[in-house]
Order: sequence, then structure tokens, then C-alpha cells
Amino acid sequence: MATLLLLPGDGIGPEVCAQVRRVAAALTPDLKVEEALYGGASYDVHATPLTDEVREQAIASDAVLMGAVGGPKWADAPRHLRPEAGLLNLRKAMDVFANLRPAYCFEALAGASSLKPELVSGLDILFVRELVGGVYFGQPRGIEDLADGQKKGFDTQVYTTSEIERVGRVAFELARGRTNKVHSAEKSNVMESGLLWKQVITDLHAREYPDVQLEHILADNCAMQLVRAPKQFDVIVTDNLFGDILSDAAAMLTGSLGMLPSAALGAPGKPGLYEPIHGSAPDIAGKGLANPLAAILSFEMALRWSLKQTDAADALLAAVKAALDNGARTRDLGGSLTTAQMGDAVLAAL
Ligand code: NAD
Repeated sequence: MATLLLLPGDGIGPEVCAQVRRVAAALTPDLKVEEALYGGASYDVHATPLTDEVREQAIASDAVLMGAVGGPKWADAPRHLRPEAGLLNLRKAMDVFANLRPAYCFEALAGASSLKPELVSGLDILFVRELVGGVYFGQPRGIEDLADGQKKGFDTQVYTTSEIERVGRVAFELARGRTNKVHSAEKSNVMESGLLWKQVITDLHAREYPDVQLEHILADNCAMQLVRAPKQFDVIVTDNLFGDILSDAAAMLTGSLGMLPSAALGAPGKPGLYEPIHGSAPDIAGKGLANPLAAILSFEMALRWSLKQTDAADALLAAVKAALDNGARTRDLGGSLTTAQMGDAVLAAL
């Protein structure tokens, strides 16, 4: 029996994960769903956001689905023990190097975008973001005191050939199942790591994927093009930092942060880590206002990519579409449904 480990975390995390539990019980009753403390909720009990036991449990499961971590309550926790540190540690421990972030516009929500409906209707972009390298992990990093009384804060942006190749391969493979087009975004004009990124992607493309259309784009231009004419993109492969920012910008094209799932994949056969791209939303936590669709669609991705239950994934995606077509809307989408009522709407459509 396949096992899904749920890590609800903090803020709205437990609220949206409760809806995933309901959907899983109805759709895949044979799936074993386990749950563990994570993030601030774990810090409060175990003085660490990720215990060794939970890390091992995650690695031993078939898929991991987390809600969200963090919040003002833990703002003063030591930096290496903050909830967000637990998230980075889990990604690293699971070695999930390729972060798939679809920015997909449900037809019923084209009017909810901050861009004109004709610019986003039919939008279907897949970001492939490198997730366990780059400036979020590079050494050295720190804040140092300078002799003149100032301080110096520094991070290191660093990538190796193999780190770029493995995420590039994921992007090219996925493009073959879509419209066969990849944009690779970096800053090769001003960054050495960006220059290497461009060279490695160019070589990989020529060697292994000449059938795929490849275009290089500077990350700042990519940001501009995403809000000018987003439908020109299909697969965008980029590094950890640029991927973080560009995919959040693309998120808003589709209506709401509460709609977007993500998958983080490692080597074939290893468990994937699935999570809504939103955070713990402390401003609405505990009020039943959170949109659970990003979490529910993260479960859809888990069914598809790790649990190999394509039929169930297709049924769930169709149910979410149907619920939206029927007018189901939480507050972020301009409606008044509660988190549980949106769960009801998806279950009814299922
Ligand atoms: P956020 O994503 O939590 O919230 C941004 C805005 O979007 C808020 O107004 C929030 O109410 C709204 N929102 C987010 N998800 C929603 C949903 N499902 N339904 C309706 N509205 C939703 O980002 P933030 O406020 O910058 O960060 C809050 C905390 O979350 C911080 O501690 C941050 O570090 C953490 N965070 C965690 C993750 C993660 O766990 N993967 C990701 C981002 C931020």
C-alpha cells in the first residue's frame, strides 16, 4: 500500500491539508495517509522544525505533501531553527532538485487575473525551478562585522555542471510531452554562474535534445514578458532564486496564490515533495477563509508524479474544473465559500 505523508505545518497549512485528507479518503481509500508535526508546530513541541524521525519518515514514504510553514510567532526563533529552515532542510534531505510549478489558468478564472482575460485565457506555463542549489544554499554566507563599524551581509550564488544538467533534463523531457518548447532564464550578461548555466543548457540541448525548441532569455526580460505576453511561454527552466520570483509573478496571472500547486522531484523512484506555493497566510489563518485548491491540486500532482495513479489525478483535476465552472469561489477568488465549503464543492464534483 502506498503511503502519503501529510505535513500540515502552520497557519492555514492544517486547514487546507484537512481538505486534502477528505479528498484522499473519497478518491483513493487504499492510500495510507500519515501525518506528522512540521515547521513551527514541530518547533513548539520538539524545539526543531524538522525532527530526525520526521525526516526519515518523509524519505521512506511514497510522497510527501506539506501545507505551509512559518509565521510571526516564530520570528524570533534562532535562524537555523525557524520553520522556513525546516523546509529548506527537508528539500535538501529528500534531494528534490526539480521544482515543477504549473501556472495554469482555469477558464472560469480568466476574469480573476490582474491581466486582461484575453492575455491569460488558455495560459499553461510550467516552471522547472532548480530547488536545492544556488544562492539559497551556497557557501560562504553570513553577516560579518567590518573594521569601520559597518556590517557586511553576503550569500554565494553557485552552480555546478551536473546540478544544471539534471534540472535541464527534467525540463527538456517534460517539454517533449507538451509543445516541445523550453525557455532557459538566467543572467548570463552579468553573472558568471548565469554564463555557465547558459553554456551547460546549450550543450545539453545540442547533445541530447536537438528536437526541442530552446530559447535563452535574460531573467529580467522574462519577468517583463510574463506580464506582457505570458502565452508565449510553455516550459521555463531557471535557477532557485529566479524561479522563486518568476513563478510567484506568474502565479498572479492565474487569479490567486491560493490556486497554485507545486511538485519537487528528485531521482526516479524517490518520493516527491508536494506543496501549495502559498505560505502560511497568518492574516487569514484560523478563519476558514483559505482557498484549499492549491493544496488539493498538489495532491493531484502527487497522484500523477509519485503515486502513479493517473486516472485518479485526471478525475481530481476534472472535479476542480467542474467546481470552478459551477461557480465555487473562496474569498481570494471573489466569492464567499469557506475552506471546507470549497472542499465540499470538489467532493460533490468528484
Ligand atoms: P503567504 O503566501 O502566506 O500570503 C500572501 C497573501 O496571500 C496573504 O494575503 C494571504 O492571505 C494570501 N493567501 C495565501 N494563500 C492563500 C490561500 N490558500 N487562500 C487565500 N489567500 C491566500 O505569504 P507571506 O504572507 O509572505 O508569508 C507568510 C508566512 O509564510 C511567512 O512566515 C513566510 O516565510 C511563510 N511562507 C512559507 C512558504 C512555505 O511554507 N512553502 C512559502 C511562502 C511563505
